[in-house]
Formats: sequence, C-alpha cells, structure tokens
Amino acid sequence: MTNNILEGLKFVDLKDYRVLYEKVYEILDRFPLSKTDCGKLCGKICCCYIVPEEEEAGMELLPGEEEIFPLEADWLKPRFLSGAMYEYPPEWGQHAGCFQIRCIKPCPRHERPVNCRLFPLKFFREKENYYLILAKDTESYNCPLLERPELINPEFIDSAKKAASLLLSIPKFRQLVDWDSAAIIPDDVTVRFPIAAGILAAGI
Ligand code: SF4
Ligand code: SF4
Repeated sequence: MTNNILEGLKFVDLKDYRVLYEKVYEILDRFPLSKTDCGKLCGKICCCYIVPEEEEAGMELLPGEEEIFPLEADWLKPRFLSGAMYEYPPEWGQHAGCFQIRCIKPCPRHERPVNCRLFPLKFFREKENYYLILAKDTESYNCPLLERPELINPEFIDSAKKAASLLLSIPKFRQLVDWDSAAIIPDDVTVRFPIAAGILAAGI
C-alpha cells in the first residue's frame, strides 16, 4: 500500500496533470501563508491588477497547470509564452513554454495558480538538493515577508514543502527549476527550506 498519488497516472507521457495539481492546490490551502493578512502590509503589490499599466506583468502557470486552471475566466487575460520569445530550458525547444495570466481584477481565491499560492517562496536547486527559498531579487516586488520571514506560518512551510515535492516529480518542472536556479545568486538567498526527497512515500 502506498500513498503515492502519481501511481496509476500515465505521467511519463506528461498527459495527466489534473490529479496532481488538484492535490497540490488542496495541500497549499491547508494553512494560510502568513500569520497576518499580509496583503494589508503591502497593498497586495504582488497582484498584477494593482498595476494595470504593466502589460508585460503576470503570473506564469507551471508546466501542465493549464489542465486544471480556468484560462477562460473573466478575471484574467492569458497568453502563451514560448521558448522562441522567452528564456526557457533549451531542452524544451522553441515551441514549448508556459501560459502566463494577467489579472484584470481580483481572482476568486480558490482559483489562483500555484505561483500565487507560494509567493514569495521560490524554488532553487543547488547541486543535487532542492529548496524553497526567500531571495532578494527584482521579481519579489519588495514583498514585506522577505524582511519579516517570522510572519510566515511554519505550518504553511510544511505544506509548501510537501506540495513542492509533488511538483518536482514533473520532469518538465524540474528542468524549469534547474534552469531558473542558474540565474539565482546564492548571496541573495536569505532563507532556505530543504525539500526532502521521498516525501511522497511518507504520505501526504
Ligand atoms: S505575499 Fe508579500 S507582496 Fe504578496 S500580499 Fe503578501 S506581503 Fe504583499
Ligand atoms: S491570480 Fe489572484 S493572487 Fe494571483 S496575481 Fe492574480 S489576483 Fe493576485
């Protein structure tokens, strides 16, 4: 008996993401990110509808997340970013890429994508190890939680690590993390949370 929810999926074909992303959303909904309403600290600066004039701004979906995400919803505008126009892992080729959404009004919270659920946490690979990190960089919009990590809920971190372990089982996502990690300057990393291997077998 195993709790590995990937068992039975034709996952090597990268076709069935729905079960995985439903589980990831459920895990990330178990606890709030912050001990306080962090949107009140900053005016929700990480939400793209706050700065409508920045048409290039948006949140990327993770590989395969479009299988569960409501791309046709009226609160967003989607577009597909391909390797021909944006920097993605070279092994993806020119035609593969990710969807990006630009929100034109607040989302129904239960529909927000993984990247919004995890923000400001990011993935980082160093040698053979994967981490969720907090890092000072231009994509972090001066999120106040970077300066005050003690406001992040430890129970959320535990859930985030479980969700991260599931996501890293997607080969294409691992390639993306590996590629993005090369651009992260280790000195900019202020906090790191190791993602334990084999967490799936322990049950989620
Ligand atoms: S995650 Fe950071 S930037 Fe986003 S609402 Fe919370 S404090 Fe603000
Ligand atoms: S999906 Fe929701 S949480 Fe994410 S940027 Fe848009 S409005 Fe903000």
